[in-house]
Amino acid sequence: MGSDAIIKFTDKFGARNYKPLPAVLEKGKGVWVWDVEGNRYMDMLSSYSALNQGHIHKDIIDAVKNQLDRLTLTSRAFYNDKLGEFQKKICEITKMEKMLPMNTGAEAVETAIKAARKWGYLRKFNPPEVEQNEKRKMDKAEIIVCENNFHGRTTTIVGFSSEPQYRFGFGPFTPGFKMISYNDTNALKEAITNNTVGFLMEPIQGEGGIIIPDSGYIKECKKICEENNVLMIADEIQSGLGRTGRMFACDWEDTKPDIYILGKALGGGIYPVSCIACNSEIMDVFTPGDHGSTFGGNPLAAVTGIASLDVLIKYNLPERAEEMGTYFIEQLKNIKSDYIKEVRGKGLLIGIEIKKEKGTARPICENLAKEGVLSKETHEQVVRFAPPLTINKEEIDWALERIQKVFES
Ligand SMILES: *Cc1c(COP(=O)(O)O)cnc(C)c1O
Repeated sequence: MGSDAIIKFTDKFGARNYKPLPAVLEKGKGVWVWDVEGNRYMDMLSSYSALNQGHIHKDIIDAVKNQLDRLTLTSRAFYNDKLGEFQKKICEITKMEKMLPMNTGAEAVETAIKAARKWGYLRKFNPPEVEQNEKRKMDKAEIIVCENNFHGRTTTIVGFSSEPQYRFGFGPFTPGFKMISYNDTNALKEAITNNTVGFLMEPIQGEGGIIIPDSGYIKECKKICEENNVLMIADEIQSGLGRTGRMFACDWEDTKPDIYILGKALGGGIYPVSCIACNSEIMDVFTPGDHGSTFGGNPLAAVTGIASLDVLIKYNLPERAEEMGTYFIEQLKNIKSDYIKEVRGKGLLIGIEIKKEKGTARPICENLAKEGVLSKETHEQVVRFAPPLTINKEEIDWALERIQKVFES
């Protein structure tokens, strides 16, 4: 079947919750993918940063293949011989004492919400009262979130989205969330009450349009949280694992949140692997039976996670993201086009905002695809460039030539 037939066939039996660009891909390697007609494209989206290590990274594929012949799934009813090493590795890179594995990003966000709430009831609010009266209603914990956030698609998470389409038709929603504007530390101070247990934030808003807060914001948020005994929860699912030129985007401000949420590139472009990492004081609020996942922490996922982290470290991908990102952003800023309102980015998380009067980003992404550069619009006006962190200068130059052509025509 050719592309057109496959698109029709795929759409026929599928839900309509996506509107993909019309490229039908069948093969990938590094930063490159090929469609069924044999056309080559550069992947400038990297599955929303789930492919930081590039397509089909040999080290990860070898590790996973090896594990496929041994043991893949045990559930957490039993121990397996791989999870411990994965946990240790996450704790080393996050400098935390514990981690809890899940699968998708949204599940890890849900896990962080549960951890923060239970921490509130057991550790922050009058603990003896909780023990004395088990029937006491545990319904007061508040979590502060930011406008323009993206944390996933579960009903609880979309309930605190500021994007009307993400919510429309899906209520009623989970209470206990309060929204403040992003990049506004005064708003955070003012929003905190005695019931606040956590502040859930993205160090850079990815889906929100590559919104980079003022320098000092992340550090100040942590300080405010500390002063008020509120947990700072950093959703680094997209910004973490090297993407912005540091292992975590919080590292840019030497800030360690109370809870990290990781996902996407933790699966090495193969398989969904996510987790939260935090210290024992928080993690130990979970006791057997409180929370779980059939697939979370399975040996195949653990091996995938270990190999994914090893590749990031072995090939210095965070440093590479900084170096290549700096070059890429600089060159993009040199493009002269009436369409461009702003080029912004950190490391290899880059957005070009299109002037409203010139239309949306979608037709630009369509034209880029015709030239062999795959990207995706985010929030109507922004073209996102987030290639695998393995990209080299020649490959960036290849893309720049085509990006320039599209913007200048
Ligand atoms: C992608 C993303 C998520 C959701 O991850 P899924 O694996 O799609 O559930 C959550 N937070 C951020 C910041 C993301 O970019």
